[in-house]
Amino acid sequence: MTVAAIPGLEHWFAQELPGLFVEWQPAAVPAPELVALNEPLAIELGLDPASLRTPEGVATLAGNGVPAGAAPIAMAYAGHQFGNYSPRLGDGRALLLGELLDTSGRRRDVHLKGSGRTPFARGGDGKAALAPMLREFLIAEAMHALGVRTTRALAVVATGERIMRDGMVPGAVLTRVAASHIRVGTFEYAARLGDPTIVQRLADHSMARHHPQAATADQPYAAFLESVIDAQAALVANWMLIGFIHGVMNTDNMTISGEGIDYGPCAFMDRYDPQTVFSSIDHAGRYAYGNQPNIAQWNLARLAETLLPLIADDPDAAVATAMAQLERFPDRFQHHWQAGMLAKLGLASEGKGDASLFHSLLDLLLAQRADYTGSFRALSQLLRGDDQPLHAMLGSDAPVDEWLAAWRLRLAADGRDPLAVAGEMDGVNPLYVPRNHQVERVLEAANVGELGPFRELLDLVTHPFHERPGMEAFAEPAPDAFARTHQTFCGT
Ligand code: AMP
Ligand code: MG
Repeated sequence: MTVAAIPGLEHWFAQELPGLFVEWQPAAVPAPELVALNEPLAIELGLDPASLRTPEGVATLAGNGVPAGAAPIAMAYAGHQFGNYSPRLGDGRALLLGELLDTSGRRRDVHLKGSGRTPFARGGDGKAALAPMLREFLIAEAMHALGVRTTRALAVVATGERIMRDGMVPGAVLTRVAASHIRVGTFEYAARLGDPTIVQRLADHSMARHHPQAATADQPYAAFLESVIDAQAALVANWMLIGFIHGVMNTDNMTISGEGIDYGPCAFMDRYDPQTVFSSIDHAGRYAYGNQPNIAQWNLARLAETLLPLIADDPDAAVATAMAQLERFPDRFQHHWQAGMLAKLGLASEGKGDASLFHSLLDLLLAQRADYTGSFRALSQLLRGDDQPLHAMLGSDAPVDEWLAAWRLRLAADGRDPLAVAGEMDGVNPLYVPRNHQVERVLEAANVGELGPFRELLDLVTHPFHERPGMEAFAEPAPDAFARTHQTFCGT
């Protein structure tokens, strides 16, 4: 099979970190067909979209052969899944082709997901189904458009194979682009190899790549931990602000870079409720919306454990330093979340009663089971003089009026033009997010070869702030019947 070249691939991870991967080749697929290509991202990577659309380009994106300059590897990692430790997960169905320096000089992993079994596959078939790969494409690109750090989706290629999931379904390969695929689970794997120099090399590599300022600190490894903690606190705060539930926050799904990764049984919440869970396998609600900050901190503690020997020679001193960093997580999270809430409410500066202003709004949303995304747009509508949408969502009881009065008082103190404030709010509060019932609808259509609905939804959620006439249905929560019965399954 002739494949198109990916010019400029580098292999920094592979050069620096032997022991943390195996060299491996993708599996051939019978009839690759390009289903989605992210042209702006291709250009950002310095790749030519037209050449990716040729049969040779599609063959490359399908893993049908290895382009010149690629040296594919399956990365090793461990992970705590739902709290239980698995010593050997790794890329069971994915390969890193290499790294590209993008047009801004940033190093980006180019990775195939669904490219066949690897030595880490355990019982899996090494494949990926079309619908979940399109889901990852949609969610990643929506996240990016919302300004939340995330891995990106370059392409989805249908393989022409049907694979066994919940019945026979079309197979696909996703090309994923990431700052790196180094995870908390990569450190857990390295730490248990019994060679402390490997963790150090991994930490040095990760620091140089993602947290370079830590390298010049007095205590570089403590500073590295601090920087990862802050990056994750910012990420999870952003998820909370947009009503996103990741669904599988295992340590192998948490990056060191601070990008969100692996969008499987995830969802944007419709009606506000911190206990919302979508994943069918999350019986205990471990990864419920409201529990995500706690879980992030728990995962970061697993990272901290692997760094202890690097933080200090004296184990007690190392633990004390790591604990002090971990204990800062709630403050870092609050800092990012509160800044985001101020913007969502159109407030220019911090005020004394901020925490109570934010939490009493959330209490009102919870009491009315109001639509999370829609409520913030209804607030800007109210500033434009139309209070109908807000009262339709929150009712008109005394607590609603009290809250509105308190908010208006804060806005008045800022002294800005309400129309300008409303415009700014609409620039941070999305109108269109990939709501689960819409995502399911377009994926069902894609499974029978109809891609129009997928493209329409992708276009909307990658322009999430601008109202489009005729698209009102996309700003609505799921009908109650869907919300009661629906869970996203891990059939990936
Ligand atoms: P995920 O749920 O996608 O985060 O994957 C968790 C682990 O299971 C990773 O080690 C994956 O590589 C592996 N895995 C998931 N699905 C498959 C599959 N179909 N074949 C092989 N490995 C898989
Ligand atoms: Mg994963």
